[in-house]
Amino acid sequence: MRLRNIPGAKEEMLVNPYVIRDPETRKGSWKQEVFGNGRPLYVEIGCGKGRFLCQMAEEHPEVSFIGIEKFSSVLLRALQKRAAMEADNLFFLRFDAEGLTEIFGPGEVDRIYLNFSDPWPKDRHWKRRLTSTEFLKRYDAVLAPEGAIEFKTDNEGLFDFSVESVKEYGWQIPVLTRDLYHSPYAEGNVLTEYEDRFATLGKPIFKMIIRR
Ligand code: SAM
Repeated sequence: MRLRNIPGAKEEMLVNPYVIRDPETRKGSWKQEVFGNGRPLYVEIGCGKGRFLCQMAEEHPEVSFIGIEKFSSVLLRALQKRAAMEADNLFFLRFDAEGLTEIFGPGEVDRIYLNFSDPWPKDRHWKRRLTSTEFLKRYDAVLAPEGAIEFKTDNEGLFDFSVESVKEYGWQIPVLTRDLYHSPYAEGNVLTEYEDRFATLGKPIFKMIIRR
């Protein structure tokens, strides 16, 4: 989701109270110092305009949430939603997840959400896919021992690639469906912006949960 450049978006990242700047300096201290309560930490990578996380944060005050998004112009939309909320358990980072291990310590993250990640269809770009073994290695470095990764997509090719990638990495897929809404896992599903579009078109949604 690359929006056109919105004037002022980059500047907003420097002052917005819900954006954590210099996240590298918070490594190892997210739960106790940033959120100050030791609650579980759930992270969405590629959070886009933030609909999923804003709803999750409201529904789960017992969890701390971080949204990571590469582009300021996209994140700006999430910050607008965030400003209308009362919650104290949601912050955002304008950051490229390639640097994930620079900002989270070993075992610091309890759950990672990957929702409708960019497919990067060209073979030569496989390492950029958020479910590639390159990224699984990064998740391995920051995910708690019992942690999980939840992945949803409408893109069958990306889903098949992801299943292979998880197997190659030697991790497990305890939950897998190729039609989320007609599966036992539909209950309590929180929609993302992209998902809403695909669901309206009647497209099947693929989902899996990945564990070590
Ligand atoms: N998760 C949202 C949803 O489902 O509506 C947005 C989906 S959009 C297709 C993918 C988002 O991931 C884009 O906003 C993109 O900028 C972001 N993204 C892709 N690669 C990223 C990376 N390496 N680090 C941070 N964000 C990334």
